[in-house]
Amino acid sequence: MSQVKNISDSLKPIVALCKRRGFIYPGSELYGGFANTYSFGPYGAQLKKNLKDLWWQTFVQKRRDMVGLDGPILLHPKAWAASGHLEGFNDALIDCKACKGRFRCDHLIEEALKQDAEGLTIPQMTDLIHSKKVKCPKCAAQDFTDARHFNLMFSTHMSKTGADGDVAYLRPETAQAIFLDYKNIVDTMRVKIPFGVAQIGKAFRNEITPGNFVFRVIEFEQMEIEYFIKESDWERLFVEWLKSMHDWCKLIGLNPARIHEKEHPKEQLSHYSKRTVDLVYDFPFGTSELYGLAYRTDFDLRRHAEFSGQNLEYTDPETREKFIPHVLEPTFGVERTVLALLCDAYDEEQLENGEMRTVLHLHPRIAPVKVAVFPLMKKDPLGPKAKEVFDLLQEMTACEYDESGAIGKRYRRQDELGTPFCVTIDFETIEDGTVTLRERDSMKQERVLIKDLVQILAQKLA
Ligand code: ATP
Repeated sequence: MSQVKNISDSLKPIVALCKRRGFIYPGSELYGGFANTYSFGPYGAQLKKNLKDLWWQTFVQKRRDMVGLDGPILLHPKAWAASGHLEGFNDALIDCKACKGRFRCDHLIEEALKQDAEGLTIPQMTDLIHSKKVKCPKCAAQDFTDARHFNLMFSTHMSKTGADGDVAYLRPETAQAIFLDYKNIVDTMRVKIPFGVAQIGKAFRNEITPGNFVFRVIEFEQMEIEYFIKESDWERLFVEWLKSMHDWCKLIGLNPARIHEKEHPKEQLSHYSKRTVDLVYDFPFGTSELYGLAYRTDFDLRRHAEFSGQNLEYTDPETREKFIPHVLEPTFGVERTVLALLCDAYDEEQLENGEMRTVLHLHPRIAPVKVAVFPLMKKDPLGPKAKEVFDLLQEMTACEYDESGAIGKRYRRQDELGTPFCVTIDFETIEDGTVTLRERDSMKQERVLIKDLVQILAQKLA
């Protein structure tokens, strides 16, 4: 099944660049593709790593109230009963009898009837789709089954006895792994409320996706924080976290004008939440959720205490008061961040000579390659000199060496990778020890001494 065919037109230039330049490949392409899976190629993997490292630095290393965790993907199945996922983590889906296509009812209603479907029951959705004669987006037939709930969790078996009781679930969110280790962290880490636990890891959801590239995939990474608080502090800390999330968006270079807050109406809140605000981003295919901030109350810890029979109360070290902490959850999807960054950074510019250049204006902080080094020509003495410069710069940052093809083409390639700086070694370098330093966005070039290069680049990249 080719994914590219299903991709919305507005994303196609970005998808093409991702493939051409080794950011993101369709999953299992060798076997004709595997729907809604993608592989992050060499530059995509580096971009993701830069993001995750920066997030960890920002929210764990630089804060005294946060610790990190790397919990398992497979949790005890009872955890999913306690969290409410076994019972309530569903999508309402409907099948077209004619072409056997399967669709999310809310997407179908929103697209065909331009009506918000949140909060509608299964019979209400079935009724609406049948009575308004909604057409199948694939084959245009008006012949749907009744809507049904499908659980989004992937299940697997632990190979003990092969019985139903051996079933295990791949986590659909990283959060629950944090709740399961809450007690261990309190007992071993000298943390005091308010404190947070951060985790970066994979989550899996068996979703029907409308083909918006990596916006909605079945396997993705979340960067999540569970911030444990006293109930009375929740409103104040909610506002603080919302601000921290906006600050993060600025730090990675997202355009603030494209980010908005979307408050979930009370009647549409998840079963665990008393308030949720999404940060939504103006993607080319429409404004959609990038991140979320939820006040999960004490729902999760209370349920895990109940289902496990363990005491999960916290004892205030000063007042000796005992209580189950409440929780704020800022959550950040890695793939959606990558997509927003690519959409924000992507540009096709007409140059003065009439040529077009495609460029990614990625913030230097997260760009996969920071500096590219080129000899004007491969041969002596330029090649060896350029390698010397490359060795020097490689000590300080992520560099790439490229000696093949016309220099203009090499610049274009780095523009498409979002490399902020290029350094070219030419015959003047051999005479006076200077190189050309070219900046990606302005394309301005200046001559600088090799001996000053590390310092100049360190300043520019900071
Ligand atoms: P949506 O409403 O788009 O399905 P959600 O509200 O279910 O998202 P959460 O459960 O809040 O999402 O998940 C936290 C974050 O994980 C989201 O803000 C998003 O960044 C990311 N995320 C969720 N589902 C996916 C997915 N299928 N593919 C990629 N990222 C996802």
